[in-house]
Amino acid sequence: MAAGAFGFKGCQKIRGPQIRTLLEAKDFILFDCDGVIWHGETAITGAAKVVSSLIRRGKNVVFVTNNCTRPRESYVHKFYRLGFTDVLLEQIFSSSYCSALYLRDVVKIRGQVFVMGCDGLRRELQGAGVPCVEEADEPDATIYDCALAEDVKAVLVGHDDKLTFLKLAKASCYLRDPECLFLATDNDPWHPLSGGRILPGSGSLTAALEVSSGRKATVIGKPSRFMFECISSQFSGVEPARCLMIGDRLETDMLFGSNCGFDTVLTLTGVSQLEDAQRYLDGEPAADRGLVPDYVVDSVADFLPAFEELDDEQSD
Ligand SMILES: [Mg+2]
Repeated sequence: MAAGAFGFKGCQKIRGPQIRTLLEAKDFILFDCDGVIWHGETAITGAAKVVSSLIRRGKNVVFVTNNCTRPRESYVHKFYRLGFTDVLLEQIFSSSYCSALYLRDVVKIRGQVFVMGCDGLRRELQGAGVPCVEEADEPDATIYDCALAEDVKAVLVGHDDKLTFLKLAKASCYLRDPECLFLATDNDPWHPLSGGRILPGSGSLTAALEVSSGRKATVIGKPSRFMFECISSQFSGVEPARCLMIGDRLETDMLFGSNCGFDTVLTLTGVSQLEDAQRYLDGEPAADRGLVPDYVVDSVADFLPAFEELDDEQSD
């Protein structure tokens, strides 16, 4: 089934039989995590059953997350803890893991990486054999007197809840060398917390470093296509026309899907709402159409009736 088979492409609210037709046309189902299958430490009702049902029906299910705060091993535990008991390490593509692959396999880094990010990101890089600068500054060190490593060939920015002015200053100094790469795990501006609070995302830290260095970061995570290249390198026969991206954020998930040539589904359990998508659909410039989902569901739990119909058919 081609995108828009239900009449037009853009923000099509779909349910049972239409979801079933859509799923039948796809081999690879890509899920974002936060806001789609869970909120922090709480699984979205029905999400684990949806994931299991897809896997049981022979679909390739993968998870593509811009969250760079934990290594993949730790993600496997989280999946299990929240009831996603059949998810394997190989199905998880985080922006930290893809950053490690980029540094190791694409640029084949020779030298160290300065990480402006948290321990989880550093652990993922080290697990892939990518050396990182060890921070060993005295508590009262300043940019006037601290040591700078000699062989820093890349600065990688991610979520950093222990960001200091010194770290930002050091990263700015390393980027004075035009040979030193400037990478960001993702460009997410912020993340929702409960009670109306927000958490500044990696994008806000990248912006600070872009200003101080006068350079632009290469972004690894969604909406960059690189995460799809990582998936394609590890699964055979991935055809964009047979992939479906399910996410909650227009600027990352939906644009990633469009950039890769996938059909996209927006689920309304997270950041973006239908009105936001409609604004991109109606507004200018036309380039923003890539942010418009093909299809919309209230929750991934809306997929469950589609499976029930299939089960009914099989038992007939
Ligand atoms: Mg999300």
